[in-house]
Amino acid sequence: MSPEGLKGKTVLQIGVGSGGAPVCDHLTMNGVREWILYDPDTLQDVNLVKHPRSRRDLGRLKVQIQKEWILDRNPEANVTIRAEDVFQAEEIEKDLRLCDLVLCCADTRAVRLFINSLAVKYKKPTITASVFRQGFGGEVYAYIPGYSGCFECMDKIAAQLGLNINLTIPPTQVEEETIYGMNLPDFQASGLSLDINSIALIQARMALDVLVDGKPGYSGGNWVIHYNRPIPGNEVSGRLKTARPMLIRSQKDCACHG
Ligand SMILES: [Zn+2]
Repeated sequence: MSPEGLKGKTVLQIGVGSGGAPVCDHLTMNGVREWILYDPDTLQDVNLVKHPRSRRDLGRLKVQIQKEWILDRNPEANVTIRAEDVFQAEEIEKDLRLCDLVLCCADTRAVRLFINSLAVKYKKPTITASVFRQGFGGEVYAYIPGYSGCFECMDKIAAQLGLNINLTIPPTQVEEETIYGMNLPDFQASGLSLDINSIALIQARMALDVLVDGKPGYSGGNWVIHYNRPIPGNEVSGRLKTARPMLIRSQKDCACHG
């Protein structure tokens, strides 16, 4: 594997929050220099315990801060920033068509499914990462057209195998109150910075392997589930840190098939 293989490869990243920023940092330090970054949010004081950027950047757009960080490490990088919600973004289809790899680091399922639908439409390798509620661990999934199934294929298999881990984690009192009391169905108790970063590092490693070799590494598996402590009622999480990576093929009834 040689960094030369990264020349001219453009990475489109959705989300440069607490999970996305470290992925972008590591890939920048390992030679990725063509970036398109999406995130509508600004850095808030509550982010300081999880997000790698500084207090002096509070109130500024996360994509702007990330662009400056990339250019500090590599002045020859090219960074396009879009401080937009992907659902409203005019350029999202064009950006997706032009890129070589998509990294989905968004924190909602709706964005993951939307980005997956575009990835299937334009046949773009896409790596999606998410941290489980309360930071019990997380998962990284790579859709490689012609090699592995898309995010929706994984979603179907996860439902069959009982591997929708988020659904199996008992809700905390805060989650119950926020989801039902404040009617915020997407609310999840967040993990610690170290819980988030362990997933970010797996995503960055998989991204590097896909960019250079076209395959996700991990012995050919494209779905890595990582636990950092036992989840009540989940026997595997108590025995293993990382479940054996699985390879999910394109499912016959999915839009990505054929
Ligand atoms: Zn599919």
